[in-house]
Amino acid sequence: MRDDQDDSNDDDFTLGDGDADTEATVTCPYCGEPVEITLDPSGGDAQEYFEDCEICCNPWSVTVHYDVEGKADVEVSALDE
Ligand SMILES: [Zn+2]
Repeated sequence: MRDDQDDSNDDDFTLGDGDADTEATVTCPYCGEPVEITLDPSGGDAQEYFEDCEICCNPWSVTVHYDVEGKADVEVSALDE
């Protein structure tokens, strides 16, 4: 979502050596199953979005935080309230 196709000038956000986590395994708050989700490091070091569980299809609130080494800390919670 930055300017056109200029990938070489992506210096406003750097995660480690550029190998930030792109997937994480979370536990669904509804069905309790471990689910692997895809992360998008280019979205920034703090992200929050919604995603549906691919097992039970209930909606999650997903929170992602990257540390300086590009390790993702992912939390999912139920969208109940
Ligand atoms: Zn589920």
